[in-house]
Amino acid sequence: MSDFSDNVLNWFARHGRKDLPWQQELSPYVVWISEIMLQQTQVVTVIPFFNRFMATFPNVKALANADIDLVLHHWTGLGYYARGRNLHKAAKAIVNDYDGNLPVNVEQLCQLPGIGKSTAGAIAAIAYKQQAAILDGNVKRVLTRFHGIAGWPEHSAVKARLWQLDESLTPEIKVAQYTQAMMDLGATVCTRTKPGCDRCPLSEKCVAHHTDSIDQYPGRRPKKILPVKQVAMYMLQNKRNEVLLQKRPPTGIWGGLWSFPEADCPSEEPALLDDSIEVESSSKWPEVRHTFSHYHLDITPVHNKVRCQKNTIMDSGRWLWYPLDKPLEVGLAAPVKKLLRQLAQQPGN
Ligand code: SF4
Repeated sequence: MSDFSDNVLNWFARHGRKDLPWQQELSPYVVWISEIMLQQTQVVTVIPFFNRFMATFPNVKALANADIDLVLHHWTGLGYYARGRNLHKAAKAIVNDYDGNLPVNVEQLCQLPGIGKSTAGAIAAIAYKQQAAILDGNVKRVLTRFHGIAGWPEHSAVKARLWQLDESLTPEIKVAQYTQAMMDLGATVCTRTKPGCDRCPLSEKCVAHHTDSIDQYPGRRPKKILPVKQVAMYMLQNKRNEVLLQKRPPTGIWGGLWSFPEADCPSEEPALLDDSIEVESSSKWPEVRHTFSHYHLDITPVHNKVRCQKNTIMDSGRWLWYPLDKPLEVGLAAPVKKLLRQLAQQPGN
């Protein structure tokens, strides 16, 4: 074992967190779910989501057999919904192709929807005790600082260098503890701002620490200006205090989630406004901005009180009347959830 892994392991034994909910049973399923939730999301945010998810879907079979709406309902608020959809697809594949057990091999794990090399490495190392490396955001931060590696870690050349270093540092024994230790060190000591170098087991040989250049690592993503798109969302509220929602297509933004009917421009009416729905009053709400990684979406909410003659549109399975006073267990896009809450708080509702 190298000095590097020795130091990290000794630090973890004395100071590392061992009481996180997903550390209590290091099964492949638990490691998988927690790793996916922890991508782009902080530990404190993940804990309640993880506990609720495990209570509802305690194993791969329960997840595979669940309705996608219920899975996305449990994901509502975590963002990056493709993660929830991929978990569901991968669970079905694990049941069909691997008899309900996550594969042991990193290459096979990487074939499953939503599982990349780092998540596969975490499952293999933590649950199956194989000498497999992980390279999540925390590990990237520690390694770029420790070795003084310049450049954006997602750039292919920088990433390849990090994987190479990472694989050479990952020990053969105590690999499960080492993997958790590296993630924990990045999350609690080598933090994005104000890292605790005075209590870091790697400070003696850390390049960034010794050259007083911590703020240069990891290198930033090259700046780009995000384009802005516009959309109008129509909140059609009937006399029974229900609001019409439409299921989005399975792919694309908010795929498979329920949302309001839309039009590209607020002056257009949504396509469903035919004779069956008569608008009695209409008011435009202030614009809200939702930012994705690749563009800003400026949403103009339009509140319409409506009268419905018949319910022909309900037959397609793509529409539902959502009761404002009795929320349903379905997946909702974040701004839709917020607007529904605001609607429910309106006087008279
Ligand atoms: S010494 Fe400081 S910058 Fe270097 S790895 Fe440790 S916490 Fe991070």
